[in-house]
Amino acid sequence: MKIVHLARTLLATLAALAASTLTLPAEAATSQTATVPPAAAPSEKVTTIVSLTFDDGDATHPSVARALERRNMRGTFYVNTETVGRTGKLTRRQIAALAKAGHEIGGHTLTHVRLNELTRDEQGPQICDDRRTLVAWGLRPATLAYPFGAVDADAKAVARECGYDAARTVGGLRQWNCPGCPATETPRPKDRYGIRTPGSVREDTSLRQMKQQVLNAEKGGGGVLPLVFHRVCDDCGVYSVPPKIMNEFLDWLAGRSARGTVVKTLQSAVGARYRPLPRG
Ligand SMILES: [Zn+2]
Repeated sequence: MKIVHLARTLLATLAALAASTLTLPAEAATSQTATVPPAAAPSEKVTTIVSLTFDDGDATHPSVARALERRNMRGTFYVNTETVGRTGKLTRRQIAALAKAGHEIGGHTLTHVRLNELTRDEQGPQICDDRRTLVAWGLRPATLAYPFGAVDADAKAVARECGYDAARTVGGLRQWNCPGCPATETPRPKDRYGIRTPGSVREDTSLRQMKQQVLNAEKGGGGVLPLVFHRVCDDCGVYSVPPKIMNEFLDWLAGRSARGTVVKTLQSAVGARYRPLPRG
């Protein structure tokens, strides 16, 4: 079925090209013409960027990472460095392998605290020592995720001072309980230290709801849609998604590329750069 569909799509594309007065896209042209810009092919237009983010350095993450890689996608994995290597958590070796495979590794504080309940002096070590450890492990963390999405102005300032170039909250984008919220962030979010998402995907989130968030983004004209996941396993808590549902979602998502919907790490989606650690 897939081959028939592909062949039809190809034929339709060729017919459209033949009918148009445009020069073939640069890849297919035998010689470059100066009059037609290479971006003229409409199928190459990216409008919606979905970032698949996974919190808490869970031991189920290497297998979902492989599921992403099989579809030529990369994800963002937020780890708490003090819990690394504990039961049910990623090991340092696994984190290094994720990074080597092209996934983004970001910070999530040392011990998964509610930053808005801490003083600024207490927030410093939670955010900065965590990042310092990641850097000491040879990683280049550019984005942070606030545990529980709990954030205040101090935490945003500390994240910036520690060298993070952007940070992700939880919530603020459109979902069932917030129909008036915007569907996406822009690729250059106004608040780089308060990047919004729909609510975290939970065990009671249906595949249809996951798809709907992407459709909302597409219908809204595109932008950056960061999705928040935790564990990827069967019957393993409120903040989990079964691998079967995840795989179905990824297959469906891969098929959206023809509509200009692509998957990127959050760092790549918002153009966050790695900045060196502050002195001291
Ligand atoms: Zn978390």
